[in-house]
Amino acid sequence: MSAPDMATLNADTIVDFIGDIFTRRGAESYLGEQVTMSQHMLQAAQLAELSGASETVITAALLHDIGHYTNEFPDDAIAQGTDNLHEEAGAQVLAPFFPAAVTDCILHHVAAKRYLCATDPNYFGQLSEASVHTLNLQGGPMNALEVTTFAKEPNLDAIVQVRIWDDQGKDPAVTTPNFDHYAPMIARVVAAHQKDTP
Ligand code: FE
Repeated sequence: MSAPDMATLNADTIVDFIGDIFTRRGAESYLGEQVTMSQHMLQAAQLAELSGASETVITAALLHDIGHYTNEFPDDAIAQGTDNLHEEAGAQVLAPFFPAAVTDCILHHVAAKRYLCATDPNYFGQLSEASVHTLNLQGGPMNALEVTTFAKEPNLDAIVQVRIWDDQGKDPAVTTPNFDHYAPMIARVVAAHQKDTP
């Protein structure tokens, strides 16, 4: 199947488009973890919902790893010279449809792990083995200057919270609602962003 062009991907179709990715590719493994990709993303969303997070933040939790599927998006959704990191690519393909409060959580979810490792003494101990392994590849804990800079992120609280749900959403024993449960919520976040964007 060839990817649709951006003309067919718009605010009215983006939610079904993402739902289709969950349906077709959600069963793929989440590298080194005990859960599938869709289980992982749905668990993160469920944790957000159960904690009373806003629909914007629940959407961010649900879509934080969408960058693993950017090859599903039209070629022109991603700037040339790709090989983007999954967090950058994910934020980029969603940027036309979602507010920065969502895309910032996606863009920074790896940096947030490095930030939390540097600022929360209890955080490192609850990372999964796979996550510890990637931490080293991702640059290890932030240094003091990086922490100071990152702490200025306008959506810092949501970014950090989504990261924590990301880390917790790896339990094979947990069941969640499916994507359809979240689709209306995502649609409302997209519609609100449309209204706010001239
Ligand atoms: Fe994740």
